[in-house]
Amino acid sequence: MAKHIFVTGGVASSLGKGIIASSLAKLLQSRGFSVTIQKFDPYINIDPGTLNPYEHGECYVTDDGAETDLDLGHYERFLNIPTSKANNITTGRIYYNVITKEREGAYLGKTVQVVPHITNEIKRNFLLLSETGKYDIVITEIGGCVGDIESLPFIEAVRQFKWEQGAQNTLVVHLTLVPYLKSAGELKTKPSQNSVRQLSEAGIQPDILICRTEYELPAELRKKMALFCNVDFDCVIEARDSDTIYAVPLLMQDEKLDERVLQKLNLPIDKPVELTRWKDFLRKLRVPKEEVRIGLVGKYVELHDAYKSIVESFIHAGVMNECKVKIEWIQSEKLDSDQSLYLLENLHGILVAPGFGQRGIEGKIRAVRYAREKNIPFFGICLGMQCATIEFARNVLGFADAHTTEANPETSYPVIALMPDQQNLKQMGGTMRLGAYTCQLRHDSNSFRAYQNLRIQERHRHRYEFNNDYLPQFEEAGMICAGINPETKLVEIVEIPSHRWFVGVQFHPELKSTVENPHPLFVGFVKATLEYALTKIPQ
Ligand code: GLN
Repeated sequence: MAKHIFVTGGVASSLGKGIIASSLAKLLQSRGFSVTIQKFDPYINIDPGTLNPYEHGECYVTDDGAETDLDLGHYERFLNIPTSKANNITTGRIYYNVITKEREGAYLGKTVQVVPHITNEIKRNFLLLSETGKYDIVITEIGGCVGDIESLPFIEAVRQFKWEQGAQNTLVVHLTLVPYLKSAGELKTKPSQNSVRQLSEAGIQPDILICRTEYELPAELRKKMALFCNVDFDCVIEARDSDTIYAVPLLMQDEKLDERVLQKLNLPIDKPVELTRWKDFLRKLRVPKEEVRIGLVGKYVELHDAYKSIVESFIHAGVMNECKVKIEWIQSEKLDSDQSLYLLENLHGILVAPGFGQRGIEGKIRAVRYAREKNIPFFGICLGMQCATIEFARNVLGFADAHTTEANPETSYPVIALMPDQQNLKQMGGTMRLGAYTCQLRHDSNSFRAYQNLRIQERHRHRYEFNNDYLPQFEEAGMICAGINPETKLVEIVEIPSHRWFVGVQFHPELKSTVENPHPLFVGFVKATLEYALTKIPQ
């Protein structure tokens, strides 16, 4: 039976529970334990797949095709192991399961209630990963803040779970904020005390308190927090703001968070933390030798979290190339005329981002044209690849009104069209082409040079595809299909071999980049931008 660690949060949202959970998991993993992390979100959507990215940032897709919270991206990037559908559960999912059972008569005429039916369903889901037998430790992040109405059933389920499984098998880590009041010149502990009190009122005594703070927590303050929050002195952990999220595991190691956890769970501490590769990564991240500027063209750029995995993939790929990738955020709607193209000047590379619907699409197509004509390294992801196809059709093949039928169902050249199995769908959630599919690469392509492998697996999230009726004309004119699904013949990658580096992918490579395995295409793209940047320096 796995040991369970719950991570709750209080005082404010956005304190970085996901990063703390990932950092703790990393430390435990580096000591030889098999660890996974799951997230329970209190909202009523069955999954975040139907949410606008402005709501909660990017939707992260797993190999098994689940549309999940972006924190799962952090879990994978830190732990270097894949997550799955079972790693993200929402209130909506819990209720859906309970209501489905009720309709099937599974409750035998009983009144179905939050306690015990909803809480039992939550507890059943707490155990899904643990029951696979693959993990020594399962960390469960509870979304939201204690005290929120929405999270009450989850908190009650944690209370019952801890009571049932016993203190040696279950641990509660509570993350709070210790704000600095400038006028008083002091760090304040009262909000944390109140948040712990709320947790205690719900019947949960946290075992470890992690305090987000801008300044050092002096021993006096730690003592005060320990006394008033009823935790051991050495279980008050400081989580100071840091320059990069990738430093957090080391900060937590300095605070001995992993040791405290292992002691409390009665697990051996004999194996040391082994983070040589991680530290090497961090060292290179902090002292880059070069810098490149890459334009990220998208329609949700006001919220950087909408492109979280792309941003992190650039960090990983930058480290591999020992260079810093500076992202220039470009709102595609602003690229509304040729006069606006100055926004793309002085870039070493252009990435056109994924997206849905019509808004901003003409700006994305304009950005592709700029990159193609000026021979600037170009990377198109999902809708970005589709825009590359449309641009080529319009401006090279001369198909004046070529488009995707997503934006113009009446186009005379539907070079991107709805996939056949998407045609009669009425339901929105979970119905796209989702998750991992195989792709066969052409050996004489930039993609193959990057992957060094002819068969790859990548994750997807789309409804539209390259229209194969036009493929011969594209290939003749110089845009080739460099990667294809071997079964369905769906075009997965387009490239322009005569261009410096021009790659468009129907899948989402950003979802598979981790600290230990930076994504080959991002590494290849950044390398191309670096080479291009060096050509621009006067010799
Ligand atoms: N909207 C496009 C499609 O559904 C692209 C999706 C995406 O970029 N994730 O095919």
